Amino acid sequence: MSAIYRIRIDSRQCQGHAHCLTFLPETVDFDDEGYAYVPEAESRRAEMTDALRQAVANCPERAFQVVEE
Ligand code: SF4
Repeated sequence: MSAIYRIRIDSRQCQGHAHCLTFLPETVDFDDEGYAYVPEAESRRAEMTDALRQAVANCPERAFQVVEE
């Protein structure tokens, strides 16, 4: 069985820097207050891509996370 990678953004930690948007422009969205979120339909991936790794590595608040399910 292959792994599924789920993207999570911790809304308590996100500060809206938008670095994540640089790497995943078609995945990350922002709410009315300027905090990032990932729509449910975009949150699961079949593989851990470089863009996902970069988004995780470049989030200053450690809010952008990818967990293996
Ligand atoms: S880089 Fe991190 S803190 Fe900034 S908007 Fe993205 S998830 Fe939020």
